Amino acid sequence: MGGSSVELKGPDFGAGIPRAELKEGEPLLGHAQGEAVILVTRGAQVFAVGATCTHYGGPLAEGLVVGEQIRCPWHHAAFDLRTGEALRAPALNPIPRWKVETRGDQVVVTGKDETPVARTPPSSPPESVVVVGAGAAGQAAVEALRREGYAGKVVLIGREPNGPVDRPNLSKDYLAGNAPEEWLPLRGAEWYAENRVELMLESKVTALDTQAKKLTLADGRTLGYGALILATGADPVRLKLPGAELPHVHLLRTLRDARGIIEAAKTAKRAVVIGSSFIGLEVAASLRTRGLEVRVIGPDAIPLQKVLGNALGEFVRKLHEEHGVVFHLGNTPTAIEADGVVTQTGEKLPADLVVMGVGVRPNLELAEQAGLAIDRGVKVNAYLETSAPGVFAAGDIARWPDPHTGQNVRIEHWVVAERQGQTAARNALGKREKFEAVPFFWSQHYDVPINYIGVGAGWEAVEVSGDVNGRNCIVSYRAKGKIVACASIYRDRENLELEAAMERGDGEAVERLAKGQGAG
Ligand code: FAD
Repeated sequence: MGGSSVELKGPDFGAGIPRAELKEGEPLLGHAQGEAVILVTRGAQVFAVGATCTHYGGPLAEGLVVGEQIRCPWHHAAFDLRTGEALRAPALNPIPRWKVETRGDQVVVTGKDETPVARTPPSSPPESVVVVGAGAAGQAAVEALRREGYAGKVVLIGREPNGPVDRPNLSKDYLAGNAPEEWLPLRGAEWYAENRVELMLESKVTALDTQAKKLTLADGRTLGYGALILATGADPVRLKLPGAELPHVHLLRTLRDARGIIEAAKTAKRAVVIGSSFIGLEVAASLRTRGLEVRVIGPDAIPLQKVLGNALGEFVRKLHEEHGVVFHLGNTPTAIEADGVVTQTGEKLPADLVVMGVGVRPNLELAEQAGLAIDRGVKVNAYLETSAPGVFAAGDIARWPDPHTGQNVRIEHWVVAERQGQTAARNALGKREKFEAVPFFWSQHYDVPINYIGVGAGWEAVEVSGDVNGRNCIVSYRAKGKIVACASIYRDRENLELEAAMERGDGEAVERLAKGQGAG
């Protein structure tokens, strides 16, 4: 989405620039043949690739070079400098790569390199790979299967009437009316045809027999598989309150849910959002953008305090209040009526639209029915393989051994789900790739993005570097003396550096970066 027209800045690499102007590992922005290009040197090699991330159009010149990768500062997508390929979600498409020549002391970009990337097909692939769940992890998995050169049958099965969509957008620009619906599908029908991915929509899988390697669908159809990836995600929780099923009470997970809220918001004047979670607050922001009166009710005294701590939580509260949101914190709803939400303190908050954002429950029925090992999620090993050989799990359902914290974790982040889909796919083809990514997520409130890296659950102390209210900060979360996660506002490059340092297990660099002292 977005970002296709980039104003050309910097030197014309087609005319050549002195090699001495390139700093090792630092992207230099310029252009060639009317397109934005970055040059990056790694030792003797000079790489030239497109300057714009294919996810949301992030500026790669402000990103971080790690080995032979360039990483996007906005949502941490990574591209191969040699081939332009999207190595890490959330980007799915490659960036262009350009030919570079050295002429004397000049480096010249001579044209686009359009030779296809060589792929070695897997040596003993399964007969077919079936993916259950057409969401973030499922789509990333089928993309990775084809990118690995797998030529066998690929099936992606989803419950919803639409294919995979950009789910994070459902609570943000799309809900706010700032993004058209055409931006939402991750891929169009032609992609599935070209890549020979059989997309089975409105098809719920109800049973899995891991001995017979067979799935059963709700309508009685059955389907065999060679390898299987479970990516059934999570469903939002509906509080059991009187009135919770009334027609003006909405949940938000699917495109259909988002359409329902948008439709209701056309005539509604007053909304109550139940839950001051990320999704609840993003919904509040979007409904304010649409001009509704918005009240948020939630049990915590400070929104997001358990995840982000006091300072950032207070900042988020003030930000929403500045935009007209009224909070009812430390309070819970006891009933929903046609014209409002009744609270524990006896008030009635007027509402003709109610959205519940009170968390999700992972969809484990299939895994449970199949007898897979379960531990508050589908238990997987470092290769994302479940207790049944040849059956993998990815995304919101998977609990995996996180090598960075030494804990088994289950995490509900878009980028984690996609990256797990990619790893599960490669392992379904016989690779033995451990899932070692450091979890990353972002959240957006009006014009303020929050980027978060690491696993902060159970943090014991919070430290702030920079100015939270000035929207320029890194907030770090410490457990057992060690920084385990960092959230940042408009410190995107440092957030990337923190990710790289956490990946390397370089605790000293993490300490320095979290204090705003650079990577050292
Ligand atoms: P999903 O994307 O939910 O996909 C699972 C799919 O499986 C669904 O389509 C479901 O219908 C299907 N399915 C389930 N059971 C079956 C079955 N038995 N048979 C067939 N199909 C089945 N994360 C972030 O990091 N940043 C954000 O800003 C952000 N914003 C979000 C905004 C919203 C509104 C929502 C709802 C989530 C947001 N998230 C965000 C969380 C993120 O979207 C999820 O973590 C991610 O989608 C999980 O991917 P998944 O593939 O595990 O599940």
